[in-house]
Amino acid sequence: MKLRILGCAGGEFPDFRPSAFLIDDSLLLDAGTIGSVLSEEEQWAIKYIFITHSHLDHIRDIPLLADNIVIKRLKNNIKIAGIKESLEAISAHLLNNVIWPDFSRIPSPESPIVTYWPIEPEKEVQIDGYSITAIRVSHSVPAVGYLVRKDGRAILYTGDTGPTDRIWKWAEGLSALIVEVSFPNGMEEMALLTRHLTSALLAKELKKLKELPPRILVTHPKPQYYDRIAAELRELGIAQIELLKDGAVYEF
Ligand SMILES: [Zn+2]
Ligand SMILES: [Zn+2]
Repeated sequence: MKLRILGCAGGEFPDFRPSAFLIDDSLLLDAGTIGSVLSEEEQWAIKYIFITHSHLDHIRDIPLLADNIVIKRLKNNIKIAGIKESLEAISAHLLNNVIWPDFSRIPSPESPIVTYWPIEPEKEVQIDGYSITAIRVSHSVPAVGYLVRKDGRAILYTGDTGPTDRIWKWAEGLSALIVEVSFPNGMEEMALLTRHLTSALLAKELKKLKELPPRILVTHPKPQYYDRIAAELRELGIAQIELLKDGAVYEF
């Protein structure tokens, strides 16, 4: 699997974009960054968007992608997958004909640009050779992470989460773990209140795993604290840990 980091920040500044992870050009995990980095052809290649939760920094580029497609008169259909709470939030509050047109009925209800695909936690779905499982995590709104498997390779992405348990039962035999650290250690209270992790909290989470994955890719740092978080992650002394950067590409 090719993993391209379109955005991996817990905020936005030049060179720091919100969460979006593109797998093999067609499968997107979260949609915080699309049009600001992908060319037209690259945007048209997206077939599936798996959303971890309804927060704006994870869904905000869906409306503009849909608009790009309809303006170009393409017949593309994008399946937006997620737990029903996330999809209902997008439908009610984003593509609701107020904030943006309802692209689940445009250009026609029979063949729309966007189709919602509700998925049940811990029930594996199959698409184009991928096996994908949503697993609930602990965030301030209903949220899941995703286990994506193909050809014996496996990537587990937590999305946004505070201390959590269930997802770690799915963390065996991974090629890579993408896990969030949003705040520096000095802001643990804020992290717990908003259901995010610090480096120290991540270390406690990793103790819940039977084995550490060969790559632990850290995402979602607040850009204002990037250097501090990077230093605190190094201090953990766990060789597999790497703080992600926008634009990075991995092959698993
Ligand atoms: Zn969030
Ligand atoms: Zn977020």
